[in-house]
Amino acid sequence: MTKPVVAIVGRPNVGKSTIFNRIVGERISIVEDIPGVTRDRIYSSAEWLTHEFNIIDTGGIEISDAPFMEQIRHQAEIAIDEADVIIFLVNGREGVTSADEEVAKILYKTKKPVVLAVNKIDNPDMKEMIYDFYALGFGEPYPISGSHGLGLGDLLDEAAKFFPSDEGDQYGENVIKFSLIGRPNVGKSSLFNALIGEDRVIVSDIEGTTRDAIDSVFTFDEQEYVVIDTAGMRKKGKVYESTEKYSVLRALRAIERSDVVLVVLNGEEGIREQDKRIAGYAHESGRAVIIVVNKWDAVEKDEKTMKLFEQNIREHFQFLSYAPVVFLSAKTKKRVHTLMPMIDMASENHSLRVQSSILNEVIMDAIATNPTPTDKGKRLRVYYATQVAVKPPTFVVFVNEPELMHFSYQRFLENRIREAFGFEGTPIRIISRSRN
Ligand code: GDP
Ligand code: GDP
Repeated sequence: MTKPVVAIVGRPNVGKSTIFNRIVGERISIVEDIPGVTRDRIYSSAEWLTHEFNIIDTGGIEISDAPFMEQIRHQAEIAIDEADVIIFLVNGREGVTSADEEVAKILYKTKKPVVLAVNKIDNPDMKEMIYDFYALGFGEPYPISGSHGLGLGDLLDEAAKFFPSDEGDQYGENVIKFSLIGRPNVGKSSLFNALIGEDRVIVSDIEGTTRDAIDSVFTFDEQEYVVIDTAGMRKKGKVYESTEKYSVLRALRAIERSDVVLVVLNGEEGIREQDKRIAGYAHESGRAVIIVVNKWDAVEKDEKTMKLFEQNIREHFQFLSYAPVVFLSAKTKKRVHTLMPMIDMASENHSLRVQSSILNEVIMDAIATNPTPTDKGKRLRVYYATQVAVKPPTFVVFVNEPELMHFSYQRFLENRIREAFGFEGTPIRIISRSRN
């Protein structure tokens, strides 16, 4: 369940983002299609042979106004904090520079495995250029070429040797795991405190998990919950904590381990681009999602304000049309008590299985009221549908030709399924397959 994390560090221009993109390959992310959201990605899942892992390009985390050397130092610290294995990247064409030595100095401090990769070794004749880099003290340097895609297999083989064995999840099946994500200062930690301070909440020990993340376990009305990565909400006072990229990175890691994600917005400030990006990732992950508008106490309002704010949310987060919206205040605790029942509801829908016979009735009724689309004289024929997975609920629809399942028709079927079964709070997935 918990995938190993690889971080790439190194001074600017050694080829970190080139290598990152090579390793990640072509992955289409809806987040990058949201207008206004920049395309540069620094965190992604990846695969190498049988290994699945996540990879971070620390070079994408920039601390505004920090001097050059300080930037690199922060990036190396982030790698140490976040990764299981660190790939230290240098440029074979330039030899060891003082900035490389600076990175090395930081990396000496960690016990985490560091694999040294010498980039821009574009042809075999250049391999001799790697020997200088033994001086950095990280053992055998791996020659690679990001632009030609050379040597990456050997490098990843080496990195994979250090992947921790998958401990799985230490929490039981019935425990509901949720996380609070959002920009810095929207009130995540205040909301966490308000939640666990509620009547009837019994907090167990805060458990250190096998990884660095710290989760909080509590019981409410006999149901056990885990708040994922409460450590991420506590500030360590590091400079990079307030950067957008770092907070997105933390959010992504928390999302991965959650069943339900609370996307926290600051009602006082309204919706920002970064909120959209974070919400987009929450949606893409397939987790259940609840949108929480915090600091509602600080908003000057009349009877229309809430409605307008919600309309605004629906406009900006169209992909999250299934997510309920809660307006509350962590400070005054107003409506904080409505959150737990909502988390239960979203979690239940996230793992809901529907009966095949009813599902097929719903689909056939839908088709009867709105005929399937045609393309070049050919009509889409739908034979039957079945639910193949939960978390999120996933349906396979068997058809004559999957290409004929137009996006808008799929959306129509999704709406009918939702009308019939609810699924509030959870995304659902529909896959068309040809029946053969
Ligand atoms: P970053 O700042 O470390 O992320 O570096 P980039 O990935 O942006 O690469 C910096 C420059 O080096 C770009 O112009 C790349 O095209 C170039 N580059 C990256 N990998 C290689 C490589 O393997 N060989 C050569 N010759 N150039 C490369
Ligand atoms: P985080 O960075 O998202 O964890 O945010 P914090 O919980 O640290 O809160 C950031 C600031 O917002 C702090 O000064 C809080 O006191 C304040 N804050 C949090 N929740 C509320 C709220 O519901 N109303 C108001 N007025 N302020 C809040």
